[in-house]
Order: sequence, then structure tokens, then C-alpha cells
Amino acid sequence: MAQPRIIIVGGGFGGLAATKALRKAPAEIILIDRTNHHLFQPLLYQVATSALAPAQIGFPIRGILRKQKNTIVIMGEVTGVDKHQKSISVSDADRRNMPIAYDYLVLATGATHSYFGRNEFEKFAPGLKNLADAVATRNKILQAFELAEAEEDPRRHRDLLTFILVGAGPTGVEMAGALAVLVKTTLKSNFRRINPASARIVLVDMASRVLAPFSEHLSQAAKQRLENLGVEVRLGHGVDQIDDDGVVVAGERIASKTVIWTAGVAPSPAGKWLNVETDRAGRVRVQEDLSVSKHPEIFVIGDTAAFEQDAKPLPGVAQVAIQQGRYAGRLIHSRIKGAKQPAPFRYFDMGTMAVVGRGFAVLQSGKIKMSGFVAWLIWAFVHLHFLATRSLRLSVFLHWIWAYVTGQRGSRLIVNHHAFPAVSEAVDEAVKGAA
Ligand SMILES: Cc1cc2nc3c(=O)[nH]c(=O)nc-3n(C[C@H](O)[C@H](O)[C@H](O)COP(=O)(O)OP(=O)(O)OC[C@H]3O[C@@H](n4cnc5c(N)ncnc54)[C@H](O)[C@@H]3O)c2cc1C
Repeated sequence: MAQPRIIIVGGGFGGLAATKALRKAPAEIILIDRTNHHLFQPLLYQVATSALAPAQIGFPIRGILRKQKNTIVIMGEVTGVDKHQKSISVSDADRRNMPIAYDYLVLATGATHSYFGRNEFEKFAPGLKNLADAVATRNKILQAFELAEAEEDPRRHRDLLTFILVGAGPTGVEMAGALAVLVKTTLKSNFRRINPASARIVLVDMASRVLAPFSEHLSQAAKQRLENLGVEVRLGHGVDQIDDDGVVVAGERIASKTVIWTAGVAPSPAGKWLNVETDRAGRVRVQEDLSVSKHPEIFVIGDTAAFEQDAKPLPGVAQVAIQQGRYAGRLIHSRIKGAKQPAPFRYFDMGTMAVVGRGFAVLQSGKIKMSGFVAWLIWAFVHLHFLATRSLRLSVFLHWIWAYVTGQRGSRLIVNHHAFPAVSEAVDEAVKGAA
């Protein structure tokens, strides 16, 4: 008898955990991702601020699964699901909307950033969701210092060296802290006309405090730490406008050439593909076994699923995705074997953390609430533990120690084929003229 086919869409935290949980299943597993790598998103901000290189937080999915013989990895973009025909559509560089049939389907397609209906902001304030975003942000930040150093008029330095982060959740706070460390330590003595430490870093949020998911006390500790690092924290007003010249907050224009979006998230379009009930954000409402209503063969997990536990929706964090992935994998395995099915899914909350600059983090786990160096050590240990491979763990560990001791960061390359758009346009014009 042919083995059942399980398609898992997404090689992020949830999809990878589901695939690994099926390693002994007598099934043909196909893991599809639009990229060729698994990405450790919690450290994206470190790539964006030159603390780590892209290859230190991403690893080829087929490399991670090289020993899992029942699994095929395909790089492709899933564009739809026909739940009645039990097939998905996949496009790649060569083919459009290729149908692939499944017996079981796991959708773990994550989330992207949301501009809360102001999509026109995206052009001026890129977000941070994948490696390409992180490298683009790194280019933008480093280029601002290059432009300022080349500028002879010191009156223009202030605008060029103003960095605005929109959104004071964990990503915004972590970015702001890392940026402050970059300008104060790593870039020290690298420039002659400008003083990088004079850079202005502004963190804006309409909420009344930073790190809203944390307790009031920890959020105050994080704000204090940011201010000690020289970050200007502006709360209680969102941005009204973002354009080429900066932002407008509560009627005041703040001139800047570098605005970074670190606010809201929107789920992948899995709810639209399935045409099923979603929550207000568009996340698919799943049953207590993570399957979709009336379709016990389809599971939705991680950031793209809406699951309520004790009358509260689970947060969009890596631990939720990993635990849901493991659960969905085990459940499918037990069904294939005809074994007893696991009890309904229950999330075990191991706590939340955010790092604020070098050697300082806030940590909240049940009744435990702490901030400072010990919290940072725990943060570092946990993040190393969850990196995808041993080689990444070793590389990041050594890099962090080196950076902690010397203040130096190795990944400060501007990798941009269009570094000088004006020059490229002039060259293009000249080529056209000559033709
Ligand atoms: C900047 C940032 C910082 C974060 N920090 C933390 C943190 O400190 N702690 C924490 O717990 N969580 C953090 N998170 C959230 C955490 O990363 C997510 O909750 C987690 O990644 C969700 O896992 P997932 O499997 O649902 O989705 P993801 O890990 O996002 O994986 C989705 C995968 O699906 C693929 N995909 C998407 N659409 C398609 C398609 N149509 N076809 C094929 N492939 C597709 C993507 O390429 C991706 O590989 C952070 C997120 C970001 C962006």
C-alpha cells in the first residue's frame, strides 16, 4: 500500500518541529518553503545592527534534515489550497501553480509585518521579517554613517544620524538597544568628521509603555535602560506620517533618513487559501487538536493560527510554534499508525525575554520577574539552545564573547548592488544613449 503523503508548508519554527516529529513516520513527507533556509527570527535584529552575519542565524533546511530519509525538501511558493481535491498549488522559478496532492497538510507559513492599513509607509520604513530585510536595514544604517562622513556641511549630520524605530515591542526595544551599543562602542574611532556616539535614536510607540507583554515593573526597567543608553523613548503617540524626510509624531516633524518599522504583524494568507473562519487579525481559528473545522486532515500552526487557551489567545512567539509543530507531527503519526491520539493541545509557557543593549535583559516566567545581567545570561543560553544546529550555536557563542570583550562587530559590510542609484541611473542613460 502506498504511504500517505504529508505536506508541510513552511520551514520556520513550527514547520520544522512538525517535520522532525514525523521522522519515524511511515509516510512521504514534503516540506515546502519559499526560501532554502530555516531562520532564527529572534536574532534578526542582530544582523540588522551588524552584531551577527546572516549565515549565523539561518541554515539550509535540507542540511538540517539531511538524515531524515522520509522527507523531501522543495523550495517553492505555495499560492493556494484546494481542500476538496486535497491539493496545494506551488510556484517556483520555472513553473506556476503546480498542483501537489496530499493526505495530510500542515500550514506553518508564519506572519509578515503589518502597517495597520498605512501600506504607503513601507517604502520609507522597511520592516524586519527575513534575512533580506535584515541586510537591507543593515545597509541603510551603515550607509547613513557613510553619507554623514562624506558630508562637509555639519548642519546636515544631525538629520543623517537620526534613526527612528516605530514600535516599542520586543523587536523595537532590542533594535534600539543594539543600535545604541553600535554607535557608542563599535563605530568609535572609525570616523573623522562625525562622532557616531552623537547619533540620535528615537523609539516611538502609541502605547503608554514599552514591551507591553511584560509587567509594568519590567517595562519600566527596560525603558530606563534604553534611556541610560541614550535612546529617546516617545510613548503615547503613533506616527502620523512617514516620508523621505522623516516622520511626524504628535504634530512634530523629526527629520531622519533612516526610519525602521518594528510594529505590528499580519498572518500569512492561509485563512484565505482555506476559506475558513479567522480571527480579526486573519489568523485561522483552529480546533483543540490544531486542525481546521470539518477538515481533520488539515492543521494550521504557529503565527498563522489562532488558538485560545484559558480564554486567551496564544501569542505569536517561537515556543508556541515549536510546541504546536511537535504536537501536529505526533498527532499525524499516531493517526497513520492507528494508535491512540494525544490529548488536546496545551501550551506550556516557559516565559518571555527581551534584551536591552549589552549585558542586560528582562525576563518574565510565571511569578519570576527579573532584569539585568543574570537575565541576559539566561537569554543568551536560551537563544543559543534554540539555534538550529551545533555549528551555529558555537559560531554565535564565540562571536558574542568576542563582541562582549572587544566591543567589535565583524559584520559591517554594506552589500548593496545599488549603493549609488544616481550613478546607476546615469550609467543606464549613457548605455541607452550609446545603443
Ligand atoms: C524580528 C523578530 C523578532 C522576534 N523575536 C522573538 C523572540 O525574541 N522570541 C520569540 O519567541 N519569538 C520572536 N519572534 C516571533 C517568532 O519568530 C515567531 O513567532 C515564529 O517564527 C513563528 O513560527 P512559524 O513557524 O509560525 O513561522 P516562521 O518561523 O515565520 O516560518 C514561516 C515559514 O514559512 C515560509 N513561508 C511563508 N509563506 C510561504 C509560502 N506561501 N510558501 C512557502 N513558504 C512560505 C517562510 O519562508 C518561513 O520559513 C520574532 C519575530 C520577528 C520577526
